[in-house]
Amino acid sequence: AYSHILEIHKQHLSPVRTAYFQKPLLLHQGHMEWLFDSDGNRYLDFFSGIVTVSVGHCHPKVNAVAQEQMERLWHTSSIFFHPQMHEYAEKLSALLPEPLKVIFLVNSGSEANDLAMVMARAYSKKTDIISFRGAYHGCSPYTLGLSNVGSFKMELPSGMGCHSTMCPDVFRGPWGGSYCRDSPVQTIRKCSCVPDCCQAKEQYIEQFKDTLNTCVAKSIAGFFAEPIQGVNGVVQYPKGFLKEVFELVRERGGVCIADEVQTGFGRLGSHFWGFQTQDVMPDIVTMAKGIGNGFPMAAVVTTSEIAKSLANCLLHFNTFGGSPLACAIGSAVLEVIKEENMQENSQEVGTYMLLKFANLRDEFDIIGDVRGKGLMVGIEMVQDKRSRRPLPLKEVNQIHEDCKDMGLIMGRGGPFSQTFRIMPPMCVTKPEVDFAVEVFRSVLIQHME
Ligand code: PMP
Repeated sequence: AYSHILEIHKQHLSPVRTAYFQKPLLLHQGHMEWLFDSDGNRYLDFFSGIVTVSVGHCHPKVNAVAQEQMERLWHTSSIFFHPQMHEYAEKLSALLPEPLKVIFLVNSGSEANDLAMVMARAYSKKTDIISFRGAYHGCSPYTLGLSNVGSFKMELPSGMGCHSTMCPDVFRGPWGGSYCRDSPVQTIRKCSCVPDCCQAKEQYIEQFKDTLNTCVAKSIAGFFAEPIQGVNGVVQYPKGFLKEVFELVRERGGVCIADEVQTGFGRLGSHFWGFQTQDVMPDIVTMAKGIGNGFPMAAVVTTSEIAKSLANCLLHFNTFGGSPLACAIGSAVLEVIKEENMQENSQEVGTYMLLKFANLRDEFDIIGDVRGKGLMVGIEMVQDKRSRRPLPLKEVNQIHEDCKDMGLIMGRGGPFSQTFRIMPPMCVTKPEVDFAVEVFRSVLIQHME
């Protein structure tokens, strides 16, 4: 049966969509932070379907609400009102600071960022958009122009992408991130990934200013940033860096967009939103993934002023956004996060996890860096700590595969796909972290032999 599935995949499914493992998993069932394959083997899910299953696979409360809503009404299209939408809008907006109070409901992260880009241009009446190198904001024709992670193929077919400017050097990150695909010179930054490395900050600010100067009329429509870069391998900015960048953008009339697709909904522990951890106030916030615990939904939240500028110039419409089912699920997710203290759990278990993996970094020379916040942790693999060169792909693949075979699923990221990304559902416990650390440790010992 397994070989038959592989054959169907080869014949009928997108060739771009390759399986994550050499021996792909055939997943059958999920329960909270655990996944089960069709042979009944269980796996601790430390990647949550790419940071999406926020409160746990098939969480009983979310499932019950979804089932109940499904029996009543799935879909109305956005031309009708239904109480779930208003209930949800009230709940979600209560979680955001003033003046971020107007919500647009859409279906995916890419769609949310597309819409944010349109809003930025409608409001500012300008064109240029800036994102950081290493950013990932989506794969739609528009957002592709904003995404730039070395391990992705980003040579765009002609006619695609937006008129965006990739800030050339900011922010490659201090370790393997400095080995950019398009940079033949391997500049090795001396600073480690300590968030308040001020020397690096000044340097990055200067580079950002240079980028701004390349924009048309030195003025920009908008600037996008993930509060912590996810796909790029959990890359954090120096302390205060984003705040200065926001000021520079606003001085030139642009709006600032926080992409909370990975960092929102309490994952970072100390705060509900990633931008709060950076002490910045965005004009537009985009969110997806964890918002629906796996149900496809997304949102853009902005000020009434920006929202109005969009309403003045075009009809924004989508058929599915904010369906009764999506809104009921979204509400249930918010309730579960609160009732089950999941943000607090992210903080407590995340801090514990970071410490545990940091201990492994001291034990193994091939762990270059362990970094992150809350339940968003990156483990960057290197050939050795001195050279900081990324561990060859083949070796990273083997470690990844071996961990999976021992029951631990992790994500991957970074320009060379050399960083393991650890982002479990927010219900994860300390004993499960111990299990994961033990699996990782024993795989590394085996690898060193
Ligand atoms: N923004 C960020 C930060 C993401 O990580 C992703 C997905 N990895 C997206 C946007 C795009 O979301 P989607 O895949 O739902 O379009």
